Amino acid sequence: MTEKTVSILGATGSIGKSTVDVLRHTDIPFSVKALVGNRNISLLAEQAKTLRAEMAVTADETKYAELKELLAGTSVKVGAGKSAVLEAATMDADWTMSAIVGAAGLEPSAEVIKRGKTLALANKETLVCAGDIVMDMVQKYNTTLVPVDSEHSAIFQCLENNQKNAVDSLLLTASGGPFFLKDREYMETVTPQQAVAHPKWNMGAKISVDSATMMNKGLEIIEAHHLFAMPAEKINVVIHPQSIIHSAVAYIDGSVIAQLGNPDMRVPIAYAFGWPQRISSPVEKLDLPKIASLSFFTPDEEKFPALKLAKQALKAGSEATNVLNAANEIAVAAFLDRKIRFLDIAKVGEKVLENIKTFKLNSVDDAVALDKKARAEAEIVVQSLEPK
Ligand code: NAD
Ligand code: MG
Repeated sequence: MTEKTVSILGATGSIGKSTVDVLRHTDIPFSVKALVGNRNISLLAEQAKTLRAEMAVTADETKYAELKELLAGTSVKVGAGKSAVLEAATMDADWTMSAIVGAAGLEPSAEVIKRGKTLALANKETLVCAGDIVMDMVQKYNTTLVPVDSEHSAIFQCLENNQKNAVDSLLLTASGGPFFLKDREYMETVTPQQAVAHPKWNMGAKISVDSATMMNKGLEIIEAHHLFAMPAEKINVVIHPQSIIHSAVAYIDGSVIAQLGNPDMRVPIAYAFGWPQRISSPVEKLDLPKIASLSFFTPDEEKFPALKLAKQALKAGSEATNVLNAANEIAVAAFLDRKIRFLDIAKVGEKVLENIKTFKLNSVDDAVALDKKARAEAEIVVQSLEPK
């Protein structure tokens, strides 16, 4: 077997750690080019040592000296700041995991795409911020794009070896998050702690809040639209609290093909690492009798307006989805800082979408500029919502 060279952008996060775990268990020979993290430099240094990475980068410039010290006496090259993150993305790895959180993942993903190798994409914001541009680049540079988001990995698997033109619709499953059975009155007063306590998935704070508002599913509709060139009307969300069916594809003959597995991100990560082969992973085997029953519900868009908002933005185009994503990131951070309330998160998105209308995206740089503008606008809206 030929050796694969690997980079992990966002190595110290939830997806990054699961990726490292998949690598530790694989028989496929690999070597590590770059590992990128942010503030958790002790973990980054440990990962760089044990995986013998060529380069370790922290996005936080103030941590450079500390990281350098932690890696003193090793051959690991150390970098810090945004330019070093982009340098790491340009290192010639065969397979790169894009698992930075938020719009900060867009430019590194774009750098990986330009090299024309394989991009394993967990950072859904890459497609939400600049989907049309990014998918054009994937074509232009002949890049292999393998989705890692569990729903999109499921759909990717259900589409393989089937006629793409025989697809009737995509069924995107959603756990419903921690507040699926709660009403709006309950959600008025929920704390960050309650919002990040996801019933099925153990994830980073931002995506956990997105799951609680269901903005995550909204972002995933946008992601699916770009990945699979599917119109919004053909992407249907189904609530499935057990999170065993990760998504499905309905065909015109009435067949529905689904992908099942335990809710463990190491499944889609191993799939993306092995693709087009399947490889073994350290994940617990699925025991269907133990699960006993699977249930399904229609989402309530009045209770979870973020879902409706994301669909509206998708209809309006890439500019609107970019703006909504930026507004959401600022709102989620403000909620986690206890500056605004849970139900204010969707309000920030709605307001910022109303306020920013005229902007045309022609490049990744345009997308980054629009993201910046929308963040500034969102900060103003957040301030207006903060209790006086
Ligand atoms: P996380 O917060 O646990 O980890 C984020 C990683 O990004 C960390 O390594 C952090 O150091 C790094 N990082 C943060 N800001 C950075 C910056 N400005 N520059 C460079 N690196 C930076 O997040 P996560 O839950 O692992 O999610 C990562 C991405 O994967 C998100 O886009 C999320 O939507 C997506 N995703 C996550 C899951 C999951 O189960 N966690 C599932 C599907 C998709
Ligand atoms: Mg998902």
